[in-house]
Amino acid sequence: MVGLAARGLIDLQSCVEYLRQRGRLTVVNTPVDSVLELCGVAQKLEGGNPVLFKHVKGSDYPLATGLYWNRDIVGLLFDTPARRVPFLMAEAVNTWRANPLEPVVVPSGPANEVVEHDLDLRKLPAPVHALADGGHYLDSSVVFAKDPDTGVRNASIHRFLITGPNRMTMQLDEGRHLRDYYERAEKRGAPLEITINNGVDPAIHFAACVPSSAAPIDRDELGVASQLLGEPLQLIKAQTVGVEAAAHAQFVIEGRILPDVREPEGPFGEVTGYYATPANKWTVEVTAITRRRQPTFHTILPGIEVYNCVGLLGEANVFNLVSAQVPGIKEVFFTYGGCGFYHAVVAMAPKGVGWAKQAIMATFAAFPPLKMVTVVDDDVDIYNPSDVEWALATRFSAAKDLILIPDARGHELNPMAAGGLSSKLGLDATAPYPRPKLFERVQMQAVDLSQYDIETGEPAPVVEAANGHEPAPASESGAVEVEVGVPVRRNGRR
Ligand code: MN
Repeated sequence: MVGLAARGLIDLQSCVEYLRQRGRLTVVNTPVDSVLELCGVAQKLEGGNPVLFKHVKGSDYPLATGLYWNRDIVGLLFDTPARRVPFLMAEAVNTWRANPLEPVVVPSGPANEVVEHDLDLRKLPAPVHALADGGHYLDSSVVFAKDPDTGVRNASIHRFLITGPNRMTMQLDEGRHLRDYYERAEKRGAPLEITINNGVDPAIHFAACVPSSAAPIDRDELGVASQLLGEPLQLIKAQTVGVEAAAHAQFVIEGRILPDVREPEGPFGEVTGYYATPANKWTVEVTAITRRRQPTFHTILPGIEVYNCVGLLGEANVFNLVSAQVPGIKEVFFTYGGCGFYHAVVAMAPKGVGWAKQAIMATFAAFPPLKMVTVVDDDVDIYNPSDVEWALATRFSAAKDLILIPDARGHELNPMAAGGLSSKLGLDATAPYPRPKLFERVQMQAVDLSQYDIETGEPAPVVEAANGHEPAPASESGAVEVEVGVPVRRNGRR
């Protein structure tokens, strides 16, 4: 692939402009309130084109969201068909592991054009997302930190609740490298210095989503960002902490996660579709804020966009790891109904009896949060839930094709993972091998519709609009004025 940098996609603005020129950007001109209203509007548009909110009440900055909530758009950004994106990620990770392209530190960058004298996080248009949320959250910023023993850099995405002009609380999930760094610093009574990079380019965003099974704690996953860019990622020195920042970020918030301090955090509407329970959590004291002269704030809705980010890298990693053990693996998809974490569908061309069950076990091992793995033949469209269900309905026998593993490791965010445990369900929905005539799939002749003179009537009424939600409201007094680019189908289905 041609790297993002060669196509000029090195920051959030260039991506937004790239999409706008291609008719793939929705622009909201009406000023919206960052408290609930903004995300209410965004949710109506979720899964379609990315959205630029030009005016957020009470803030000087526009806001972008939804860059990754449609896989066709992700494919457009990476100049590859949506279905190829997980393979592109898998190749980037493999190349990086074999031959890392390390980031470089440059003297200055757009991200520190302005150094704020007056530290006030409340100037940011960080939204209150969901109805019961505990306050204004940053949920898409990429945290850089350094291992307190080895100095190896880490990049990861965490949620932050703004609790004061220079104070936030945050979530540090178990098993994340940042949590490990912090716990070792805290044991010595030391804070952990971080930079919080808001509004980064897709290369950094996806690098931060590389699972730890692909980027272990002794490796700096920002090298994957270099790989996706096609050139060394540019970093800058921070003003007040010993950790670098992304040179092309929109905002950089520098700070320290304080030792032995926990302050209230939550609730927050999480990727699972449930609220994270309020609790005393890790606390950040902000020491500096820098920004571009004209920054665009970045946020995400905790939904399809997260499923795609976690999913694309998870799928890539599962594909790499399972393919090393099981022949004939073709495609992997982490479904949206499975929150991008919990349900995988694997397409394969089994080389013999028993390989589909091997694939189930290897897939669970490759991505521990998974609760359910369905394996289908490669004539099934894994992106189409009805097609996968068809395979279950016609090729699966619960008496012999079901694998149940009670009480294996669970995922902390899942409300069913009591005590960190979760039962795993494997479904072998591949046809018997070798495939009997009885299992031949019906096919019609392939034709090219453009060769036919066809008159169609009005489109048939549909339950949902193309993007899966009601159409955007028409502009009228009091309504939200929305300019919609060319509609695209949601969910990367093709
Ligand atoms: Mn890491």
